[in-house]
This record gives sequence, structure tokens and C-alpha cells, in this order.
Amino acid sequence: MRHLLAIEGMHRPQIASLLDLAESYVLLNRTGKTPRDRLRGRTLINLFFEDSTRTRTSFELAGKRLGADVINMTVSTSSVNKGETLLDTAATLNAMNCDLLVVRHASSGAPALLAQKVDAAVINAGDGTHEHPTQALLDALTIRRHRGSLENLIVAICGDVLHSRVARSNIHLLGAMGARVRLVGPPTLMPAAAERLGAEVFHDMASGLAGADVVMMLRLQLERMARGLVPSAREYFRFYGLDAQKLACARPDALVMHPGPMNRGVEIDSAVADHPTRSVIREQVEMGVAVRMAVLDVLSRVGANA
Ligand code: ASP
Repeated sequence: MRHLLAIEGMHRPQIASLLDLAESYVLLNRTGKTPRDRLRGRTLINLFFEDSTRTRTSFELAGKRLGADVINMTVSTSSVNKGETLLDTAATLNAMNCDLLVVRHASSGAPALLAQKVDAAVINAGDGTHEHPTQALLDALTIRRHRGSLENLIVAICGDVLHSRVARSNIHLLGAMGARVRLVGPPTLMPAAAERLGAEVFHDMASGLAGADVVMMLRLQLERMARGLVPSAREYFRFYGLDAQKLACARPDALVMHPGPMNRGVEIDSAVADHPTRSVIREQVEMGVAVRMAVLDVLSRVGANA
């Protein structure tokens, strides 16, 4: 693995070994004994063209806990605002001998384009509506820690599937690991060829959640909607927002997940989001750091500058 651009195309053993490595980082993080020499002398650049809280911070933490020099580039303070193209930015970063480049961009495919132009190992931190591979890995790690394995689990991914790179990465990963994926949402927020992704499609929460082991809620991505695809936030919550009543359709021990940021009262009710035993949303954030450490570790062993 030279870059991490997508989950699509990754196979079960590769995913499983990344999750195993991440698992070891969970323990090291909890005991404060992370190997700070692992990435000593390496440079990691966080290049974010879109907003981020969890992903950027956790890549920064992950890099620092492994001893890398971490630089955060935010587009609002960079020359991109002065008209520099993505490829000029790539050439500039390349000249700085960066080892690991973490990229988030509004256009699907931007990290893949950069990967062709730089020597650094490129990690896709979310590109448009395409993929968000480290999110799917951290989701899988969270589920695996609670259920032991992903095999044969029923995972319902609910809400704005159309605009969700999280959903796409999860569909590929869960499929590769033998889970059964359901996509639940209104027809206007479902990709045209949803079934072709190997998932079952449902348009009502009661049947989509029936017997589910995991309920993964997605944010309503209003910023990616050119026109109104839902009547109103209130109406959306009534039919597709996860509350205790809808959750009761899933298995009694079903896990509740959300990649964040959450729109409380739109796609998820606070009582469910903060539920002490069912919600694993905070744990997802913790797993995010461990997964990103595992990814940086693996890529730093194979990169051109390794
Ligand atoms: N944080 C996730 C992403 O960047 C999910 C979201 O924004 O809704 O895709």
C-alpha cells in the first residue's frame, strides 16, 4: 500500500491487518506509551480544503504521537486563495520533501490526482462525495471491538446516503468483511444505483432497522445540495431522524453510530446520541486516532521517502 485513497479495491486481509495494528495503538494510547520514534524525522502535512474537526485533529495527534513533524495547512491562509492550482500546491509541497500528505477536498478524485504528482504517501481524508477511508476503518474498529467480528452483521446506514463519502467507504469495507449492508433513506437522498453497490435499499426506518446490529446515522449534508431534497428539517426528523422509538426496531443491543458532526434534532435525537450504553459515537472518535496512527505507520514503511 503506497497511498490510502479509497477502501474500494482493498481486500479483507489488508483491512484486517490495519485494524489489528490500530487495535494495538488503542492500548498504547490509553497507557500513554506510544512509540514516539516511529515517525521521527518524518514530515506530515495536513492539507484541508474543507472544514474538519475530528479528522484533522486526529491526524495531527496521530502524527505527533508517533513523533512526526506535523504541519497544518488551512486553505483560508494558503496561496490557494490567491489562485494557485491544486497541482501548483502539490509541486510546492513536493519541493518541501513531505513524507505523508493528508488531503481533504470538495472534489471527488482530488487526492488521487495529487498522489500522481507528489512523492509523499497521500491519504484521502474525504474527497467530495467519493470516499473517506479512515472513517470506514475507524467505524469497523469500533464495531469489531463490540461484536468481535463484522462477519454476518446487519449494518443499517441511514439518511443522506447520496452525498455521503462515509457511506461509500463503509459499503465497500463492510462488504469486504462479510457484513450485510442496508441503506435507509428517502428516495431523493439515495444514489441511483444504490443496489449495485451490493446493499439492500429501504425507504422507511422501521423495515430498514428491523433486526439491525448496527445503526449508522449520516448527517444531512445541506452544503452539497444544490436544491432542496427534503421538505424541512422537522419533517425529515419525523420520518428519518433516529429516536428511541425507531431504534426499538433494531436489535435490543444495536449500536448507534454517527461520523459527526451531528445535527441533533435533524438526523438524530440527543437522547439516542448520548445514550450511555447504545451510543458509541465518542468511542468512534477515540478509534479515529488509533486507526490514523496505524495508517501513518504502514504508509511510512512503504513510501518513496521511507
Ligand atoms: N465528517 C464526515 C465527512 O467529512 C461526515 C460529515 O461531514 O457529515 O464526510
